[in-house]
Amino acid sequence: MKIYQTHGACLRLKLPFLFLLLVVSLGTMCDLQAKEGMWIPTLLNAVEGDMQAMGMHLSAEDIYSVNAGSLKDAVVHFNGGCTAEMISSEGLLLTNHHCGFGQIAYHSTVENDYLKDGFWAMSREEELPNPDLFARFIHKIEDVTEAIANSDNPEQTKKDLVQAATDGNGLEGKVVAFDFGNSHYLITTITYNDVRLVGAPPSAVGKFGGDTDNWVWPRHTGDFSMFRIYADVNNEPAGYAAENVPFTPGHHFPVNVGGAVEGDFTMVFGFPGRTEQYLTSDAVARVIDKLNPARIEMREASLGVINTARAETAALRIAYADKQSSIANAWKKWIGQNKGLIELDAIGKKRNLEMQFMARASAAENPDWMRVISSIQSENEALFPFQLARSMFIEWVYYGPDILNFAQSFSPLIQDWDELKEKGELEDVIAAMQVQTTDHFRQYDARVDEGVMASLRDPYLKHLDVQFIPEQLQSTGDAEGWAKEVFDKSAFADQQVIMALLAKSSRKAFSKLAKDPAYQLIQSMRDVYFNQVAAGYRSHSMALDSLTGVYTSALRALFPEKAFFPDANSTMRLTYGKVEGSAPYDGMEYLPFTTSSGILQKYIPGDADFDLPLDLVDALRAGDYGDYADASGQLPVCFTGSNHTTGGNSGSPAIDGDGHLIGINFDRSWESTMSDILFDETRCRNIMVDIRYVLWITDVYAGASHLIEEMDLVR
Ligand code: ASP
Repeated sequence: MKIYQTHGACLRLKLPFLFLLLVVSLGTMCDLQAKEGMWIPTLLNAVEGDMQAMGMHLSAEDIYSVNAGSLKDAVVHFNGGCTAEMISSEGLLLTNHHCGFGQIAYHSTVENDYLKDGFWAMSREEELPNPDLFARFIHKIEDVTEAIANSDNPEQTKKDLVQAATDGNGLEGKVVAFDFGNSHYLITTITYNDVRLVGAPPSAVGKFGGDTDNWVWPRHTGDFSMFRIYADVNNEPAGYAAENVPFTPGHHFPVNVGGAVEGDFTMVFGFPGRTEQYLTSDAVARVIDKLNPARIEMREASLGVINTARAETAALRIAYADKQSSIANAWKKWIGQNKGLIELDAIGKKRNLEMQFMARASAAENPDWMRVISSIQSENEALFPFQLARSMFIEWVYYGPDILNFAQSFSPLIQDWDELKEKGELEDVIAAMQVQTTDHFRQYDARVDEGVMASLRDPYLKHLDVQFIPEQLQSTGDAEGWAKEVFDKSAFADQQVIMALLAKSSRKAFSKLAKDPAYQLIQSMRDVYFNQVAAGYRSHSMALDSLTGVYTSALRALFPEKAFFPDANSTMRLTYGKVEGSAPYDGMEYLPFTTSSGILQKYIPGDADFDLPLDLVDALRAGDYGDYADASGQLPVCFTGSNHTTGGNSGSPAIDGDGHLIGINFDRSWESTMSDILFDETRCRNIMVDIRYVLWITDVYAGASHLIEEMDLVR
């Protein structure tokens, strides 16, 4: 382990003294507030001064550079949905426990219960490979707006740009629209596929507080896990192979073992998924009144079934851990989002902005701008039935009974047997389906799945327009009886039956499955979706996007005093703020830090959300925190900041003014859950695990000090 003494100065980068003076004086002159915004890393020059005035000792070029190693080289898009960061020169990667949850659950069995007990590879040989997991780095982000705007054939131009940027160099690329098509960026990336599980604390640490504490401050969750990226001997991506070697990243974050204190500058660098800052007042009203209530009810129903089942046996607790988490996360967020949007009078605020917009658009005598809000509103109205139907389809297919997707995956054997045979692919497909079947049933219980199916039917019928409900679902008697019949008659509910069919390999047997009730159900849902929903959804969304593009460029022209950032779109962004608490309600104040004493205060033996392993209770009671303690001898656990984050920022590095790691972003407070639609600077706070808690758990509690040894610790 290397500990550097930095006294707050930047390790690698020194600013000219005069400039530093200017920054310091600016910093003391203004009472700088955290700002809304998720900034594109190539455009940081616009906010560099502001960030430096708030306490950053780096330049925009230190954060994102194409010519030299920069912070961006240590930031990873983790499996497409989360963020992670490199913390050693030997490929060690840090992300959230909830981002690695699928992998931790995948490796868990009743005998080796890594969810419950945690997992620590004590040597490289013990690190666990993960099929399908990938870690993606940004190579370059390039503004190609002009090339697209000037092209007669934008689609071809996009293809040409990607081809030229990726030809023969092992990179992938795509042209991504930002700000509703007002700008386009060519983003090239490099993806590593051999990513092995290195360490995870017990869920009692990584998910401490469970659904009760999710989206809530004060928080005491050690939401972290560690992986390692492996590469071939040339440091290039390679599929899993025992002889692969630890990857050397372009940059890895020094870890600030001194942590942060209230008021410190902080930034979060990652891949925020989706924000909807530019929804107009009518669309916000539909989210509050229709979309969220429908989705919340669907999820409440399935959670009822899954939570009950998980309490019954260890096997079910493990089998449904991942599914429960993915359903519960957005379910609770939507509840908080509705509450916050109402409390903040989001509809009123949006209307107000729209009125000001109209006044300025008229003054500017621009008829396109004067028309745009009412055109958006008509388009919103036309889109909504399709949007709701699409959401409900997603609820069934991605969050509903697993039997549906499983049945659908047999479609090639059911529909295209002859074609597969002709092409000589039949045997491969059958072999692949055998593997998939084993995998599917590894963590599956038909009785629970049947319960999930039954639970979704009534909220679905209640909220969705009848024209989008497949006929066979419209008159199905009582939900339990209906689901029971589907499961009793479906071959897809039974591993043995499916395995026997695959072994028999008979065309006739598979073509009979076309009549299987689970297969028919998913077919009818897909028919309605693809024939009646998808096209309408697409055409109205496209029309809406182009109108919203006019709206956002008009907003920029008409309100030059305000900064408008492009909505998050799963591309790399940087947000900055301070370590600070909040006072979301009258007479109430949130402090910015929690400590280990709060873990013990919340501890309830035997409770599903607040139980703790006894050795952890003992260690916390002993209070031996050594180098990881704060100035008062406590162990910091989590902290909040005024960084504008969203889903996808999970696992993002929380970085101090010197570019050192002080924590991992993992959540927002309950009062912030509306921030995807309306950000409020005084209320919205992101929640980060304090790096000192991560280090203490890894080093002292888990005894995995070899991992600390590979980090560059600074203080
Ligand atoms: N908890 C969130 C997530 O799961 C992070 C956030 O939305 O702030 O992605």
